[in-house]
Amino acid sequence: MSDTTTPKVLDDARGRLEFIYERLDVSDDARQRLAQPQRLIETAIPVRMDDGSLRVFQGWRVQYDTTRGPGKGGIRFHPNVDADEVTALSFWMAIKCAVVNLPYGGAKGGVKVDPKKLSRMELERLSRGYMRAMYDVLGPDMDIPAPDVNTNPTIMGWMADEYSNIARGQLPGVITGKPLGLGGSEGRVAATGDGALQVLKIWAERNDRDPSAMTVAVQGFGNAGYYFACAAQKLGFKVVAVSDSKGAVYSRKGLDVHAIWEHKNRTKELKGIVYADKSVEEEKNVDHLENDELLTLDVDILALAALENQVTEKNAKDIRAGLLLEIANGPVTSKADAILADRGIPVLPDVLVNTGGVIVSYFEWIQNRTGDYWTAEKVAERMQERISEQSELCFKLAEDEDISFRNAAYMQGIRRITQAMDDRGNQG
Ligand code: GLU
Repeated sequence: MSDTTTPKVLDDARGRLEFIYERLDVSDDARQRLAQPQRLIETAIPVRMDDGSLRVFQGWRVQYDTTRGPGKGGIRFHPNVDADEVTALSFWMAIKCAVVNLPYGGAKGGVKVDPKKLSRMELERLSRGYMRAMYDVLGPDMDIPAPDVNTNPTIMGWMADEYSNIARGQLPGVITGKPLGLGGSEGRVAATGDGALQVLKIWAERNDRDPSAMTVAVQGFGNAGYYFACAAQKLGFKVVAVSDSKGAVYSRKGLDVHAIWEHKNRTKELKGIVYADKSVEEEKNVDHLENDELLTLDVDILALAALENQVTEKNAKDIRAGLLLEIANGPVTSKADAILADRGIPVLPDVLVNTGGVIVSYFEWIQNRTGDYWTAEKVAERMQERISEQSELCFKLAEDEDISFRNAAYMQGIRRITQAMDDRGNQG
């Protein structure tokens, strides 16, 4: 991660602020407050492995800013997680929650682990260990975790249970993205993908573009990528390529997203046989590509739903898509942003595009605290309403100020955060 094309994510993330600060005439007080996280906790989590040995995992929780409300943000399990990455992700959460006007600050957690190498019991012990280590800094009014890369409702359920055990009371609002039976919300699993599609739909409407005349390539076929691809296909977009960490599949005529998802769940990879029925594969002419090749396909929309630092100064000049949609956090570096802008390729930014997940997390938290559980229809309607309203505001700001969508989204978020800082008064 140390060559010049993969910058430290945190430096890269914060580097984008200067332009916004100038434009908004942000006070020196607020700039100083936003220059570092409020709190960073690093912990060691001992886990008894199935073979009787002990392994100690490194874990983090970072609360970047809690001016607008309790910290909010997922927990990531990944071998490359470190303090720098978790801090950058917590910073993006603060911006993101402000962009869509949720009453939250930004936080994030992570554990340096390859969860694919743990048994289910080891994973449960690690998840519970994380909650025990972080118990003091988490709570429904303090900081509320959720799923992120490689974590899911099952893991959230274990963590919620551990928290309630320690608290000796049911506090489901401490964590979101839980299974339905434990106070999870309808629509949470698909929310990030559904929200991303909604932002894309609004962009298409504003630009008079017809979904059924557009092709889409999706990098990353985890939860967000899959639900986005499904929803996009339903709206008429032609999904021609998807990839996971091991490779990509491509068909000019369009892929059967659901069949690929089933295949991936069965075999744990995209490569290999894509369609169980050989005749379908032949008919649709599915090619297997390397990951890098997917990024440079000639498509209308390139949806980035994997990890940060995917489009860098190294490959930005080779991008042939007409529009980039950031479903992951931080997939395009700031240097790549500049190259794409020069080439006239717009980027719909992460801090707006992937907010569907945290919006429905907010709804889950409301439901937990009121005990009033909503139907799937109500969740979907209220999510679309919020993301549409905030996207329209952001697109209009970009137009009025003649700035990129990313700068507009950052302006929208930073304006709300710094306003809240001013409203809180002098805390020095
Ligand atoms: N991990 C997701 C994100 O990056 C969801 C966070 C949440 O629901 O709190 O936005």
